[in-house]
Amino acid sequence: MKYPVKSSLYSVPGSAVLSRIAAHANRGTPVVLAFHGVTGDPPGNLCNYEGKHLHLPLFARFMEHLRERYAPVSLSRIARWLEGRAVLPERAVAVTFDDGYRNVLTNAVPVLNALEIPGSVYVVSDFVKEGEMVWTDAIVSALSVTKKDRFRLELPGRPIDLPIGNDTQKAAADTELKALCKSFADSERMGLVSKIVSALGVSDGELAGAWRDHDPLTPADLRTLVERGIEVGSHTAGHKILTRCTPEETRRELEESKRFVESATGKRCDEFSYPNGGWGDFDARTGKAVRKAGYRLASTAIPMRVRRGHDPYEIPRYTIAHNRTTMAEFAAKLSGYPGYLRAIKRKIVGPREP
Ligand SMILES: [Zn+2]
Repeated sequence: MKYPVKSSLYSVPGSAVLSRIAAHANRGTPVVLAFHGVTGDPPGNLCNYEGKHLHLPLFARFMEHLRERYAPVSLSRIARWLEGRAVLPERAVAVTFDDGYRNVLTNAVPVLNALEIPGSVYVVSDFVKEGEMVWTDAIVSALSVTKKDRFRLELPGRPIDLPIGNDTQKAAADTELKALCKSFADSERMGLVSKIVSALGVSDGELAGAWRDHDPLTPADLRTLVERGIEVGSHTAGHKILTRCTPEETRRELEESKRFVESATGKRCDEFSYPNGGWGDFDARTGKAVRKAGYRLASTAIPMRVRRGHDPYEIPRYTIAHNRTTMAEFAAKLSGYPGYLRAIKRKIVGPREP
């Protein structure tokens, strides 16, 4: 499979100069980056068609850029700055990872350590505890190893019949099946995922071996991360969207995962990141619950810079989860150049009509 290269305003001539100017103008507002995984496999693997796991050489280039032009700090330091308890260097940037993939330890952490860049890893504790792949990965893994060229499943009143003869068709089927599973209640979803995997004729062994980059961190790995200077936080127990949980479920998701991380690392678990993390995936109620569970910060996936006055329980982050992200795009995002460009445009042409 080939990734289409995104042509964008980031790649226009002069964008590098504008990025430098914007980085200077925005030097007082930190940026937090969110990654998921880092793989040694080049783009083209069906199991990574969404680019959730960055190719290692690309990730290393991004981190070198951070080291050269920015001041990498830990997210906990940014949270303390928001509370007025710490100062930050200019051009502060924090690096975080969601979900808890093992390739973060094997591929990303050596790069971070070599460049002395701090990092935070947020784990889904059930994923680490059970050693099981997340359900979304199970579907794409099964599609990648199935010998069938059509996917058929009879659901009550809803027969499904999808062509899966090549990688493009398989990627389209994956998107459709994931949307179908998401429309089911949490309690029924795993049953449906098992039905999909068996309809594809894939055994547990074949599934587990489909792509090792889907492997989760182990409990012992969490301690190793801490030994390598990485902060380990929680991303819930079962990757539930907290705004859809009852108060009791929310408490369980927050407290159980916190306890698990603390017993695995032997350290306090102060950090949390919201699954999905978009608007509607967190609110005042969930913020209060996170604080009450004993966390000191929470991060979202709202793509913006961190400004003084931001709530430490709603720290915004830019998600960098695409092998399609070019170096120019990454540099522009970090510098705040797109926002800077919009601000200049507003000065010249005036604010847009409401
Ligand atoms: Zn997640």
